[in-house]
Amino acid sequence: MNIILLGPPGAGKGTQAGHLVETRGMVQLSTGDMLREAKSSGTEMGKKVAEIMDAGMLVTDEIVIGLIEEKLEQGAAGGFIFDGFPRTLGQADALGELLAKKGQKLDAVIEMEVDDETLVARIVNRAAEAVAAGKEARADDNEESVRIRLVEYYKKTAPLIGYYHAKGLLTKIDGLGEIEAVRGAIAEILG
Ligand code: AMP
Repeated sequence: MNIILLGPPGAGKGTQAGHLVETRGMVQLSTGDMLREAKSSGTEMGKKVAEIMDAGMLVTDEIVIGLIEEKLEQGAAGGFIFDGFPRTLGQADALGELLAKKGQKLDAVIEMEVDDETLVARIVNRAAEAVAAGKEARADDNEESVRIRLVEYYKKTAPLIGYYHAKGLLTKIDGLGEIEAVRGAIAEILG
């Protein structure tokens, strides 16, 4: 099964993807993680995207599609979880084409709904927890960047909700509940 976890920053996509990796042997493809890795290892691409990411804007489709294409080549017996990708209609079209080329398809798109103020609070809290644990908080986990990331989401990513609804792939779940409850809702969709 190949699935997309769709939702604004702080909706819990990464947390739920981690659980699916552990319990179902799926492979998580997080473009945010890949870009952060490129940034911290100082590659040319990492340097190019650092400022854009820290500000909370989206990097170009070309860059993220290239990253995903590489990972799809490696295959995944348990299926892929796309986490934070696609984020634009162009990325969504490209993903459909890349999967079709490999004789694969998307099986479900799960939209995790959470209200904006909860998202901002969760992300500001995530930054505080990282610092308390002696780690560095994400450069974009501050209120100013989060507000920009939310606008990017509504402008560029939210149209994917209609796109996948029209393809009969979309299911909405309440992302506000406890982690366990959200897990249960996802398990029900995946069967
Ligand atoms: P995330 O970890 O998914 O919240 O992503 C962190 C940042 O990486 C985003 O705010 C963007 O700057 C960049 N990014 C991650 N995934 C994508 C994507 N699919 N398209 C464009 N930019 C992305």
